Amino acid sequence: MKKATKVIHVGGEPDKETGAIMPPIYQTSTYVQSSPGVHKGYEYTRSHNPTRTRLEECLAGLENAKHALVTSSGLSIEMLIMHALPSGSTIICGDDVYGGTYRLFTTVFNTIHNFLFIDTTDLKKVEAALKEHKPALIWVETPTNPLLKISDIKAISVLAKKYKTKTIVDNTFMSPYFQNPLDLGADMVMHSMTKYINGHSDVIGGCVMLNDKVMHKKLWTLQNSIGPTQSPFDSWLVLRGVKTLAVRMEAHAKNALKIAKYLEKHPKVERVIYPGLSSHPQHKIAKKQMSGFGGMITFFLRGDIKKCNKFLSTVKTFSLAESLGGVESLIEHPAIMTHASVPKAVRESIGLTDNLIRLSVGIEDIEDLIADLDKAFAKV
Ligand SMILES: *Cc1c(COP(=O)(O)O)cnc(C)c1O
Repeated sequence: MKKATKVIHVGGEPDKETGAIMPPIYQTSTYVQSSPGVHKGYEYTRSHNPTRTRLEECLAGLENAKHALVTSSGLSIEMLIMHALPSGSTIICGDDVYGGTYRLFTTVFNTIHNFLFIDTTDLKKVEAALKEHKPALIWVETPTNPLLKISDIKAISVLAKKYKTKTIVDNTFMSPYFQNPLDLGADMVMHSMTKYINGHSDVIGGCVMLNDKVMHKKLWTLQNSIGPTQSPFDSWLVLRGVKTLAVRMEAHAKNALKIAKYLEKHPKVERVIYPGLSSHPQHKIAKKQMSGFGGMITFFLRGDIKKCNKFLSTVKTFSLAESLGGVESLIEHPAIMTHASVPKAVRESIGLTDNLIRLSVGIEDIEDLIADLDKAFAKV
């Protein structure tokens, strides 16, 4: 089955009891048992819920995985994965990961595990770190946020296996529609469903997909023991949102490529980063491992933080907000907003400067989007 069909049909079978074409929202906390311990597989919604099960089936299908686990947020999935590792583990992590991931690792789990941040686009550095530290896990975000650096998932997975290290990919930016890390050799793939998978900016959620039954059981047990469950209603919203993933991703990518090309020619722009441009340093790897280039663009405005502020407060169709991956276009300033928790010195060392602006290109009409940017450029 192709992905555009899977998003609609896997986990979307008509309701067995009534024939309802849309899966019902099982808005219940508990389930009646016929005698003690005798039930239909559902005891309590923290442990299992039929609406959530439907979503997990759909997501496993999309990443070609045997198992999926859905939780309350992307970060709670990351927390469960950290708890699943023996304490004192070493984890190699990309040096340009999502700000919240960086904060979770450096201010919460730093007392339990050892984190080493490296540039995962550099395979020599990856191999050297694997060889020296024999880590339990390598955490790869590709493309990264906000610099859109692309790491070679296949090559890293091969190297990691050599050193008995597990590979996990944060696939939030590409969604399962444009990239499938398990097919490229990774052991686990996670998403903030808050972004493209749900796609409508009305839910917070996270998921992990994997083939390892033991690890899945471990993560589920942790989820049940700690409690970061997604509500049945939110799972239902994601099930509804994901149905249009294929058309949305195609539309995001089409608009984003046009905007990236427009920005690349603009005299007030210093540099544009978009995986679909041949000027992107890892454009070749992008073409090899992704089936589309996504909707995220980063660009450097010619000028200082004042000009950026002017630009950001002039745009209208692009809403000034954190987050990404919804149908509406968003604009943000990582240094002040999403990545404020990354120290300035660290930000600058990786090229996350104060004149960097990030766009999450939505699926509005391209002419309106470009007209909005034109107006903002005219003001700076
Ligand atoms: C948003 C995001 C997360 C965290 O997910 P939440 O749903 O906000 O908890 C993790 N990784 C990436 C790449 C993200 O964009």
